[in-house]
Amino acid sequence: MVKAIVGANWGDEGKGKITDMMAKEADIIVRFQGGANAGHTIINDYGKFALHTLPSGVFYSHTTSIIGNGVALNIPVLIEEIQSIVDRGVPKPKILVSDRAQMVMSYHVLFDQYEEERLGGKSFGSTKSGIAPFYSDKYAKIGFQVSELFDEETLKEKTERICEMKNVMLEHLYHKPLLHPQELMKELLGYRDMIAPYVCDTSAYLWNAIKEGKNILLEGQLGSLKDPDHGIYPMVTSSSTLAAYGAIGAGIPPYEISKIITVCKAYSSAVGAGAFVSEIFDEEANELRTRGGDGGEFGATTGRPRRVGWFDAVASKYGCRMQGTTDVAFTVLDVLGYLDEIPVCVGYEIDGEVVTEFPPTVKLEKAKPVLETLPGWKCDIRGIRRYEDLPENCRKYIEFIEEKIGFPITMVSNGPGRDDIIYR
Ligand code: GDP
Repeated sequence: MVKAIVGANWGDEGKGKITDMMAKEADIIVRFQGGANAGHTIINDYGKFALHTLPSGVFYSHTTSIIGNGVALNIPVLIEEIQSIVDRGVPKPKILVSDRAQMVMSYHVLFDQYEEERLGGKSFGSTKSGIAPFYSDKYAKIGFQVSELFDEETLKEKTERICEMKNVMLEHLYHKPLLHPQELMKELLGYRDMIAPYVCDTSAYLWNAIKEGKNILLEGQLGSLKDPDHGIYPMVTSSSTLAAYGAIGAGIPPYEISKIITVCKAYSSAVGAGAFVSEIFDEEANELRTRGGDGGEFGATTGRPRRVGWFDAVASKYGCRMQGTTDVAFTVLDVLGYLDEIPVCVGYEIDGEVVTEFPPTVKLEKAKPVLETLPGWKCDIRGIRRYEDLPENCRKYIEFIEEKIGFPITMVSNGPGRDDIIYR
């Protein structure tokens, strides 16, 4: 059985925690898109970890972790990440890397930085991990696949071709040092030696695992609204964040994904630029930001303060629909316990008209939030394990949102730990 765990919003919904929790019952956990640009924060018996490339199942010794073909694979970052968890006492995880995954090269990271520099104040707020240049090259068909590392002749010819192309931009657009084929070759051969022990035909491996009835989790990065097709283009990421892409980025049949658990946060947070209709500011925002997540809403990779806002039912309903949600995991609800009243964005006013369907970016930029206010529950709900034991106003908040988004909330997360979960 294959289940996907994906985000309904802008990312940072708590997918890492839900994956880590569900990985207990899983045999295989697969990352199918994205790269080391975002991170998952996980708190378990070994401590607190920020993972960037490894799937959130690496902490169990019974699971196999797969880096699928859809991932932007940064080999040194992956190897360092494996070492850093092993150094902290986690048993060495079993990791397989798709032979069809492509690699983030050091020049991708540089191009990302140079482009942000060039754009100055008009930048996209990239994390400068090379993700956009990487995916651009992948689709321009000038990327390096892991499998190519083992064919030196092909590599040699390709490094020359790539230097020629990249150097035009480096010289004339960015005015930066040029690339040299020999240095690129050295970088690639270094990657080959690091990754060799993990390389696998992962889609064949998964095909067999599915036939054997294994439990497989697909772990998404970011959320629906960062999808390049369906999100807030161009303030999106460069690979699809949707469960449907799980089939492609892992290399499995689409009909095998039978459960789609969409993680949806009890309030809104976002990093980077882009329209954010229910955003709040100043003192109100500071308070939510410092109380939010676990230890505040600051990026797991960059440490950047996240933008925060009230729950956005318009964006979340759309986010859940685009994922093909079967179950909603409603997270970080405990954080809202300090509020007397909790506003929820239930519609967008655009040019004098109120809509509840999420619009494309040009219209979104004009949207003003229509808020409805619910009473708070004014207490700490951490530690509660049964739905009936939640305060009445808290249940009302959950049920109100469930009705607005139109998908069943089957899990409520009321703390960052593995056991902080209420099943309905
Ligand atoms: P991801 O990228 O979707 O995995 O999300 P992140 O890991 O970046 O952000 C989620 C943050 O919220 C992490 O610091 C988690 O430890 C924390 N978290 C997850 N679920 C809960 C919850 O139910 N309550 C609280 N207070 N924190 C949570």
